[in-house]
Amino acid sequence: MTRKYVLRCPECGSAFDDEFTNSCPHGCAALLKTEYSCRLTLRAGTGILRFGDWLPAENTSDIQLEGVPITYKSDGLAEELRLRNLYISFSGYFPERNAYVKTCTFKEFEALPTFLRVAERAPGRILVVSSVGNTARAFAQVSAETGMPVVLVVPKRNVDRVWTVGTRAENAFLVAVDGDYRDAITMGGEIAALDGFIAEGGARNVARRDGLGVVLLDAAFHMSSIPAHYFQAVGSGTGALGVWEAALRLNAFGIFKGVPKLHLSQNLPFAPMFRAWKAGRSELIDDDVRDGESIKKMHADVLSNRKPPYSVRGGVYDALTATGGEMYGVNNDECIEAERIFESEEGIDLDPAAAVCVASLMQAVEAGVVDKGEKILLNVTGGGYKKLKKDLKVYEVRVRAETEGMFPELKCMLEEFRDAILPSRPSTSASSQQQRRSVARTPRQAFLPPPPS
Ligand SMILES: *Cc1c(COP(=O)(O)O)cnc(C)c1O
Ligand SMILES: [Zn+2]
Repeated sequence: MTRKYVLRCPECGSAFDDEFTNSCPHGCAALLKTEYSCRLTLRAGTGILRFGDWLPAENTSDIQLEGVPITYKSDGLAEELRLRNLYISFSGYFPERNAYVKTCTFKEFEALPTFLRVAERAPGRILVVSSVGNTARAFAQVSAETGMPVVLVVPKRNVDRVWTVGTRAENAFLVAVDGDYRDAITMGGEIAALDGFIAEGGARNVARRDGLGVVLLDAAFHMSSIPAHYFQAVGSGTGALGVWEAALRLNAFGIFKGVPKLHLSQNLPFAPMFRAWKAGRSELIDDDVRDGESIKKMHADVLSNRKPPYSVRGGVYDALTATGGEMYGVNNDECIEAERIFESEEGIDLDPAAAVCVASLMQAVEAGVVDKGEKILLNVTGGGYKKLKKDLKVYEVRVRAETEGMFPELKCMLEEFRDAILPSRPSTSASSQQQRRSVARTPRQAFLPPPPS
């Protein structure tokens, strides 16, 4: 039987098996890519596993999570901007449009394949995720629905963004860190280095990029073509890279032709990739990321990534160059105006980051960068919070530790959490295959802690 996929390094060209490998074993810096052996066949069923052929997990058939992006042709906003072919990809809660992403952002499409990839490729290890909120919430939800364990590391001031819907995240260990995103990342790195834990890998993790590529796949099938333009607000650029790679894959398999121009936006004043791109640089310099104070002034602080994969091979600079793309800087006033217009024209509230994207489309239309008749895909990466909180019960995820840094008691707590959830961690390959199978068959039971004795 041929393997479902291999990983390929675009720098040295070598291909290898996936062992939750997030960097080239030969030491190249490039982002690895998945190479699937099969053409995509859309499956029946719910959620992003409809696109499971192009997700880096083998056993995807038993999992039923309903979150999936939806694509529709805009009337209201399109009319407002005089665009004739504006399509919206919406990742959030919008029942009138059949959108049921309960944590209200596209981060859920990264979370599910990442969990599955860890279960299969790094069995017996617990995923560690650092986040300013949206990512942690998405991973908490998937953990709650599947029972798969996770450690979430979030700045203390953002822990109220970590909640689940419908069910509690009993197997999520939430750590509240004194400080900002950078401190959460440092802390997450220390936890991932403990025995039995593993870092999720960010943009380097192919499961995150391929998960977000589903946005383009859904849109392309809905539109029966690949759009000429793609708009998205970026922090790390993971989503934009996933979309770019998904478009190339559709081309390679002869399913649809063309690659969208990437129009990527950031929230001023903290907009490192926008600054570098406008200055014609393929590298970020210290000046681009220095002003930490400006992060506090951002309307959309989920976009405040200081180390995006911009200059690395296969990263954002390459994607912008290859597609003839553009970058936009959007200030807070423009965001608020975009939010108001979108909500009144489309009937749903926006995540602040999605407002950045809508504002960038307005800038592009104003500047005449897009033709009024061209097919445009606007990625509304998050929204629907107001409606969700009215319709559904939301559970806060309990903070299990508050910390300024690693300390012995925290290490003990994490080890206890690990040992309760993974009572017999595999030490041989035979038992890891055993675990692999049991994970696929019964994801919830496989990870539930033993009943209290
Ligand atoms: C994370 C996030 C983004 C940015 O995505 P990246 O892949 O980090 O560039 C945009 N919008 C929303 C709602 C997000 O949560
Ligand atoms: Zn290599």
